[in-house]
Amino acid sequence: MHLKTKRDPDGGWYDRFVQLVDDEKQVVEEFGKNPTLDELREAERRHSTRINLWQQGLVCSECGNQINDRFSARQDGHLLCWNCATSNDGSEQGGLRTNADPTKSVLSESKLHKKSLCDYVINVATGCRHGCKFCYVPSTPAIGNREEMLEDCADVDDPQKDWGNYLLYRDDLPERVHQGLEQTDFENWKTTDRGRGIVMLSSGTDCYQDRRAAQITRGCVHELIKHDVPTRILTRSPNVTRDIDLFKQANGNLTIGTSIPSFDTALVKTLEPNAPPPMARWEALNELLEAGIPRFVSFSPTYPTMDRDDVHEALSWFAAIDPEVVFHEPINPRGINFEMCVQALQESGMESEASKFRQLTQHGEWADYALEQIEMVREIATHFDNLTIHTWPGHDLTKVASGTQKEKLKKMRRQISPEQFAE
Ligand code: SF4
Repeated sequence: MHLKTKRDPDGGWYDRFVQLVDDEKQVVEEFGKNPTLDELREAERRHSTRINLWQQGLVCSECGNQINDRFSARQDGHLLCWNCATSNDGSEQGGLRTNADPTKSVLSESKLHKKSLCDYVINVATGCRHGCKFCYVPSTPAIGNREEMLEDCADVDDPQKDWGNYLLYRDDLPERVHQGLEQTDFENWKTTDRGRGIVMLSSGTDCYQDRRAAQITRGCVHELIKHDVPTRILTRSPNVTRDIDLFKQANGNLTIGTSIPSFDTALVKTLEPNAPPPMARWEALNELLEAGIPRFVSFSPTYPTMDRDDVHEALSWFAAIDPEVVFHEPINPRGINFEMCVQALQESGMESEASKFRQLTQHGEWADYALEQIEMVREIATHFDNLTIHTWPGHDLTKVASGTQKEKLKKMRRQISPEQFAE
């Protein structure tokens, strides 16, 4: 399917009606004169197709120029050419500042093969509305090296402290992924033993966090499936179930997971202030189970407040959705993000939880806690016949361990996730 524009005989040269036509040139949908990006992306979903929006006769809602390459949209969905998009001040709603993301990267090589997750990542946005306190993303170069851009585009003073309050969308990413994959020489596709050539959406944001991000994600996933690229989706958002029709087309070459560090709703709400509650995430996985889509759980980062009963309860819920794997990692107390967790707990009046978190920063405490929790999770998982735990012991934990424990951790680090992707 593609777009066709028809001039309005009573209007100016730019006054055109936009239609969606199929391969037999039959009109399947009429959009009026200035369809919004939202209308176009939702039409893609309705007709289970992908419409390349470059060079289709669409025009910028501000300057009237044709959209022939990069584009974005205003908050109300009206299309912007790249010149107008990059000079836009953006908008703010409910404390969240949004704008177009000028980031050029499309498909980036990733070191997440060390966690047996992927060899490439696609990030659909810069920033994340969920604003998880423990999130490591704002302390990575992906954010740290973009301070100036974030200040220009979203008035961000401190990318770390403002995390959760800014979100820059890569609206034309499906078009760029399409172009990139068409030009890819798959003979040279990076395929490590643990990454297996997988592309993951997204490592630096939540790719289903809202409708606009979900629309970008759908377009990218459509392209990956079309090119038979093994794909992993990681999200905290139940919105992911809106694309089950598309996931079914991947024939087992795609897996979807969600992070559920705990089922303690109050604790999760404090540490992940804008993310959906853990049970809503679990329900999304359950829907994926019913639809026959391969699933995984990221039991990460688990908290020092958890005892055997909490772990057993969490693993029981996980077993019920029959995941291919449960990735596990205890929280690491390094960096400003950990301080932000302690502060959030204190501000919510969770003194005893704050004190357990704080204790991890004392000499030797964290390694003891992390090793004990890793063992506990692996041991309790053996009580279920359908749970495979894939532990992510950090390099710093392996460094401080000794003897057989060190060897065990090293082995865990070399492990390949048991997930099956289609050949
Ligand atoms: S959902 Fe993921 S990317 Fe977003 S803030 Fe939370 S941990 Fe970070």
